[in-house]
Amino acid sequence: MSAFNLVMLGPPGAGKGTQAARFAAARGIPKISTGDILREAVKSGTELGLRAKAVMDRGELVSDEMMIGIVEQRLGRPDAASGFILDGFPRTVAQAQALDGIMRGRAPLLVVDIQVPDAELVRRLTSRLICSGCGANAPEGLLAGTPEAATALCAKCGGVFIQRADDNEAVVRERLRVYERNTRPLVEYYRARPTFCAIDGAQTADRVASSVASAVDRASVAASVGPGGGVR
Ligand code: AMP
Repeated sequence: MSAFNLVMLGPPGAGKGTQAARFAAARGIPKISTGDILREAVKSGTELGLRAKAVMDRGELVSDEMMIGIVEQRLGRPDAASGFILDGFPRTVAQAQALDGIMRGRAPLLVVDIQVPDAELVRRLTSRLICSGCGANAPEGLLAGTPEAATALCAKCGGVFIQRADDNEAVVRERLRVYERNTRPLVEYYRARPTFCAIDGAQTADRVASSVASAVDRASVAASVGPGGGVR
């Protein structure tokens, strides 16, 4: 299949990170998560981390200027030249417009929107765990507050599982409000493109993964066929 670049859209807790990681591994392209980049910066105490931490802890968005700079630099690295998956970016229309600019002259941008009802998102986010060492998601079914979670170790690095600082209910609700206000308009920004696909995210991770794979295949075909029907 020809090269492409993928954006995973969807509210917090929709499964973007999980699906992006699976898809990236299956297709051999890097997953670029702006949330992971920021959490890494917080952990290592860099200037970016110090500036981002308070904003993240409140569930608000880091500035467009800072995020666009981070992503532009990351997409310029050689491993992203033959395709990438973005998870958590863009989150505002200004970021999406900047991404369109960065994408000029590169392979087509496919957009997959993972849709999940709010009540399910709150349930998922307040019970999810990540590895304190490498940041990977805990295995499906390992939930915060259970005895199993207290003793389980990450299969990748041996780290213990913890809740994200922004996964408590008050911050989760703020993140969902921020999503509605700033990020939902992106669905409209992309919807009319032939390379946009919506997916039902309220299914098992395996089913969502196969929906993502077939949506990407359909969108890649649409991307190689111009709007007028001719193959580009
Ligand atoms: P995530 O892991 O994608 O849920 O991101 C965690 C937090 O990092 C968000 O709640 C924001 O505070 C910040 N963040 C991540 N990506 C972006 C972005 N593209 N624009 C602004 N803030 C972001």
